[in-house]
Amino acid sequence: MTQPFDIRLEMLTGANASSPEAAAALCAGTPGENTFYIETFGCQMNVHDSEKVAGVLLGRGYQQVETIDAARLVLYNTCSIREKAAQKIYSRLGAYRKYPGEEKIIGVLGCVAQQEGEEIFERSPWVRLVCGSASYSKLPDLIHELETGNRRVMGLDTDTDATFETEITRRDNPFRAYLTIIEGCDKACSYCVVPFTRGPERSRASASVLKEVRRLADAGYSEIQLLGQTVNSYRDPSSKRISFAELLVSVAAVPGIRRVRFTTSHPRDFGRDIVEAIDAVPELCDHVH
Ligand code: SF4
Repeated sequence: MTQPFDIRLEMLTGANASSPEAAAALCAGTPGENTFYIETFGCQMNVHDSEKVAGVLLGRGYQQVETIDAARLVLYNTCSIREKAAQKIYSRLGAYRKYPGEEKIIGVLGCVAQQEGEEIFERSPWVRLVCGSASYSKLPDLIHELETGNRRVMGLDTDTDATFETEITRRDNPFRAYLTIIEGCDKACSYCVVPFTRGPERSRASASVLKEVRRLADAGYSEIQLLGQTVNSYRDPSSKRISFAELLVSVAAVPGIRRVRFTTSHPRDFGRDIVEAIDAVPELCDHVH
């Protein structure tokens, strides 16, 4: 389940792009060739997706900049949980109408991208990248296509069984690390768009999760927040088949990890074993979203 508030990833982007001054500054100045700016709307999943997108770009030699006018690649990671989300993004994209040149590459990511698809190219022809949240595993290939001269690239698959894992994730907090263990949702609540924008549930193998937790602990992180739209619906796809409660206990046992939280959990899959694990293991915080 997504949360009903917007987060601006100020720490990652460091700029206020919503002001008229910022809109007027679009495409002003001479951006460096491999520079990017990313603005995020929505839940913690989106915030962490942006951290991973930033990691993909940093791994390709891009430099993150703090203002739109300093960026060659401008990305909006969007959320569609709120009414009029698409209009809000189109209004933001409309600010680029005055600057039809090739100086900037504009990309729309996330749930609005998944929902609107090619409509974004039709209504905002200056946009060159549209990638839905279920297709992030293809993002490095899409960026490569842009780099090699393709005018428009799009990723909108929802039938993937891949999760979005990156070699580098540009984490924003020096102590607490978000870590996605399951993407998508199979629950199909009548009012919710997430199963359509993020695709079916795909879990990450437990060994891969624990390897990353150990790497994060070695890097000095002491708190892990496991993420998923329905995080406790986690199903280990590896032969180990460990349960969500067992995964929690294993994450908490990694030396250096002092606190473990998870969000967002679904009541249907909230078994007694999760409650017992939280009760028994001090590192598992008494905190359920
Ligand atoms: S469909 Fe999934 S993400 Fe949406 S509210 Fe229901 S459980 Fe949460």
